[in-house]
Amino acid sequence: MTDLLKKLTALEQVSAQLEPSQEQRDYYLQKIKEWGDRFISEIDELPSFHSKSPDVSKLKIDEQSHPIEDILSTYTTEVSETGIQPASGGHLGYIPGGGIYLSALGDYLADVSNEYAGMYFGGPGAVTIENELIAWMSDVFGFPEHTVGNLTSGGSIANLIALTAARDKYQIKNEKVAKSVIYLSEQVHHCTQKALRIIGLEDAIIRYIALDDYWRMDPDDLANKINEDKASGLNPFLVLASAGTTDTGAIDPLKQIGEIAKDQDLWYHVDGAYGGFFILTERAGHKFEGINMADSLCIDPHKGLFLPYGLGAVLIKDKKALFHSHHYTANYMQDALDENLPLNPADVSPELTKHFRGLRMWLPLQIHGIEPFKACLEEKLYLTDYFREALVKRGFEVGPEPDLSVSYFWYPLSKQLENATNDEENAFNQQLMQEIHKDGRIFLSSTKLHGKMVIRMAILSFRTKKHTIDTCLEMIDRCLEKTKSNFKVNQ
Ligand SMILES: *Cc1c(COP(=O)(O)O)cnc(C)c1O
Repeated sequence: MTDLLKKLTALEQVSAQLEPSQEQRDYYLQKIKEWGDRFISEIDELPSFHSKSPDVSKLKIDEQSHPIEDILSTYTTEVSETGIQPASGGHLGYIPGGGIYLSALGDYLADVSNEYAGMYFGGPGAVTIENELIAWMSDVFGFPEHTVGNLTSGGSIANLIALTAARDKYQIKNEKVAKSVIYLSEQVHHCTQKALRIIGLEDAIIRYIALDDYWRMDPDDLANKINEDKASGLNPFLVLASAGTTDTGAIDPLKQIGEIAKDQDLWYHVDGAYGGFFILTERAGHKFEGINMADSLCIDPHKGLFLPYGLGAVLIKDKKALFHSHHYTANYMQDALDENLPLNPADVSPELTKHFRGLRMWLPLQIHGIEPFKACLEEKLYLTDYFREALVKRGFEVGPEPDLSVSYFWYPLSKQLENATNDEENAFNQQLMQEIHKDGRIFLSSTKLHGKMVIRMAILSFRTKKHTIDTCLEMIDRCLEKTKSNFKVNQ
């Protein structure tokens, strides 16, 4: 044997380990399946929050081979049992995560076959699946047939892509930036401000629109501000509304804002990352009237369709605006527009090669059909009522009737303790929040609204059921007693 052949034989013996034998595959899969089965069977009993940090030394890459049993046990103690448990129905903080099982199997299929979802030429089937998902969502939100879009890693990138298209359509660059005006509410998700900085609009003028008692944008204030800005020679070009704000779940008056945007020739973007899919419900569907007037829309299947993290989506009506930044051969672009070739995901996103993330959405939709998703969303709305009513019975005050499934509450200390100041009331609710985090059975988060400390409840996990809320109420009772005794409130 020549040296070359010897070398290749020796290398192959080691490199072949990357293709485990059938027996090894069965073994690994069995271990992973056991882990997953145990996790799912226990998830209702497991805490939703562990105030514990991982032991970093156990997660270090030491470049050695380890048995899968050891690795899975490290995964349990250092990953799964640290921080929030996003797959838990008891996660009622921030915006809860999902984690439906068929998405995990979709990922398995996508990863084993490693289909290419960047360009139609390379992966026509995979790209068609992604484009069909975009077409389905366009239909759900009443967008026209020529809508284009992209499956992103999440809502932040979806918003980034939409705002980039708005910038490009209105050619906001160079000296124009400092005169250009963007209208939004203080309740927009912070990824919006991040996106504006990333796309070079940091120096654009941002106008915060007044809010009503339900934390929704006041359309009259919007119209007035646009008129004032136009009168003083500025360049209004973009208005952002939310279809479900993160803090309070409020839906801005989408139709009225849409009409103003149309009148004034502004790009209209709607962020529906949290709330968008509630359009599928009987109870709340009508609240989205006017969403189809948007030029662009962000939605997050890893929130509203209960998928595991890693799937957002953006829909955009103006293909040319979207192509401006992301399509890399300008001459070819004309043909692509004319001939109506199937859309390449890479032409409408900063990504070229990407995870075939469409399959984790397509597979569950095709196997379950839409009904269980609709029922689950509807259930979240009714659970929100159930929770709020029970809180009021316990002497809490709750925020205004929510548009969707995010609401908030606080303990009105000033009504219990004469002379209690606002600061004391905030401190009381802060301590109640800490007690709830220490308990950990159910995870809630807090926010400040006009300087008032309130505890949020966000109900969106597919695993949140009536019994979850009952457990949460028991936990709140216990934590309230404890906080009251610390504050010497008469019981
Ligand atoms: C979660 C959220 C985002 C950000 O989406 P990611 O998927 O976390 O990147 C944007 N807007 C709203 C309203 C959200 O709730």
